[in-house]
Amino acid sequence: MQLPALYLKRGEDTRLRGGHLWVFSNEVDVQRSPLSGFEVGQACAIVDSRDKPIGVGYVNPNSLICARLVNRGLEHALDKSLIVHRLKVALALRERLFGEPYYRLVFGESDGLPGLTVDRFGDVIVAQTTTAGMERMIEAITEAIVKVIKPRQLWWKNDSSARSMEGLPEYADLGVGEPASEPMIVREAGLEFECDPVGGQKTGWFYDQRGNRDCLEHLVKGKRVLDMFSYLGGWGLRAAAYGAGEVVCVDASQPAVDLITRNIERNGLADRVSAVRADAFDYLKALREQRERFDVVILDPPAFVKRKKDLAEGRIAYRRLNELGMQALERDGILITCSCSYHMPRTVLLDGVQQGARHLDRQAQLLWNLQQGPDHPIHPAIVETEYLKGFVLRILPA
Ligand code: SAH
Repeated sequence: MQLPALYLKRGEDTRLRGGHLWVFSNEVDVQRSPLSGFEVGQACAIVDSRDKPIGVGYVNPNSLICARLVNRGLEHALDKSLIVHRLKVALALRERLFGEPYYRLVFGESDGLPGLTVDRFGDVIVAQTTTAGMERMIEAITEAIVKVIKPRQLWWKNDSSARSMEGLPEYADLGVGEPASEPMIVREAGLEFECDPVGGQKTGWFYDQRGNRDCLEHLVKGKRVLDMFSYLGGWGLRAAAYGAGEVVCVDASQPAVDLITRNIERNGLADRVSAVRADAFDYLKALREQRERFDVVILDPPAFVKRKKDLAEGRIAYRRLNELGMQALERDGILITCSCSYHMPRTVLLDGVQQGARHLDRQAQLLWNLQQGPDHPIHPAIVETEYLKGFVLRILPA
């Protein structure tokens, strides 16, 4: 197979040989292989300084991560048959893990398909590419998904802000199937949630938190639960199904609140769950003023730290949010707090909670560490694949 070679500088093969898949632009020997000689998204052979090939990848000469490895060795390029193979390997894990076809089917680098995310909602697939190399493969990916899954619909939800770093436009598009009249449904732990593949957040549902929501079973019976940043009510409705006495879901987005309301009805939980449109910080401050308290407070905000340089500001935002959350708790309360910011270290989140607890003269006990579920596998060589962290804490008077 003849592919143009991307030569690395001496020593710059170590990370790739250790399992990572990314090449940064300053690691390329641009004397031997000028990046300007590559097309955006073009397939290449990644070769070390002693001319030993590492494998096949794809290039984006305009991106800081200028190449990603898709296969070790030079036998197979990224084509439909390799994608079919990777999809089957990914599917085997999910079928082993879950009794029903609702999961993240492909989690990018961790599933050997850098730059591709595929979520499955029964016979509806919502996929997203975040790199130019994967964008070029959209037809092959579509055919591969049709072959392996035979979906009724496949949506391309290519509107992630990460795409701008690769010079890609943002759009959402039906790739396969007919625009349907029936809503897209996700089933989780015996509940049904209606979601929106086009207008919804990300690819429609936060599968990464599913396993974490299981812990509610032990914490909410007969209790008052506050689900902040509730989106479609994943945490809140699960709490109600586990016997919570009263649940309030709060989200700033009106479309999200409208869908929660439908999901409350759909699951027959209207007697115990309500949904409110509000800014989380304003809502929590109002609770403090009114001295209204809950037994369980869930804080599952969007990423406050999107770039590394936002960490200083972001950690203050997490700390403030968690302090407000603790102030909304009864004397013996449970705080479930999460961060999906890759750049926010786990320890920094926990330190912020502890500092907030001291500031309010409370005592915290850490009951569970939370992480993304196993359909978002972590690649041990690629720290960037581990992004979701959270804690279940008991908060007591000091
Ligand atoms: N907890 C959800 C996922 C939350 S995603 C789940 O388990 O599925 C983050 C949510 O926060 C989005 O729905 C977004 O609309 C909402 N949001 C963002 N900023 C907000 C704010 N300032 N106040 C309240 N909600 C906000």
